[in-house]
Amino acid sequence: MNILTFGPNGSGKGTQGAIIKEKYGIDHIESGAIFREHIKGGTELGKKAKEYIDRGDLVPDEITIPMVLETLGKSKEKGWLLDGFPRSLAQAEALDKALKEADMKLDCVVEIMLDRQIAKDRIMGRRLCANDNNHPNHIAFDAIKPVEKDGKLVCRVCGGELSARADDQDEGAINKRHDIYYDETTGTMAAVNYFKNLGGAPVISVDGSKNIKEVSADIMGQLP
Ligand code: AMP
Repeated sequence: MNILTFGPNGSGKGTQGAIIKEKYGIDHIESGAIFREHIKGGTELGKKAKEYIDRGDLVPDEITIPMVLETLGKSKEKGWLLDGFPRSLAQAEALDKALKEADMKLDCVVEIMLDRQIAKDRIMGRRLCANDNNHPNHIAFDAIKPVEKDGKLVCRVCGGELSARADDQDEGAINKRHDIYYDETTGTMAAVNYFKNLGGAPVISVDGSKNIKEVSADIMGQLP
């Protein structure tokens, strides 16, 4: 099973991705997380990507596209859920072409729709677990609120240390990321429309303003 997920930053796309991944036993491939791993590991790629990420800009295609396609290739047997890529029309076209060349079929596209202002408010409250980026933590949502330990907030799943992403606390960077997402000409919405128009895989569009369980039920009820 190969699934593509779309949703603005703050729509709960990562959380839903983790749930879908569990259901199908497929790999969760997150372009942003791959970049963060590179930055943490101090690799050349990480050094190049960091300045773009900190500003909320897209990392250039010549770095991003080969990195993501290589990761996808490694999950060919197991199947994958791709999150954070494609983010532009050019990346959508590159992905479509690469899938055909690699003889990989896209089974489904999941789109989580969310109003821009709600998405922004949500972003500022989310926290990252040091042990596993699939552990959802958010200071504004009871269902995934971090827990307190020794006067400190820690991961509600494993007790791991929590941090906020620098680009999640910077309003200018958030606005830039959303400008890219909601752009229907060459941005991420153009990529969503590209796959809608392609007509190959079914596109499931759900209302992301509902709570995590409801959104999950909407998606699960429609997945093939
Ligand atoms: P995310 O965790 O998906 O919010 O991604 C964090 C940052 O990584 C983004 O703001 C971009 O700077 C970079 N990034 C992630 N995915 C892509 C992509 N498909 N193309 C270009 N840059 C990306």
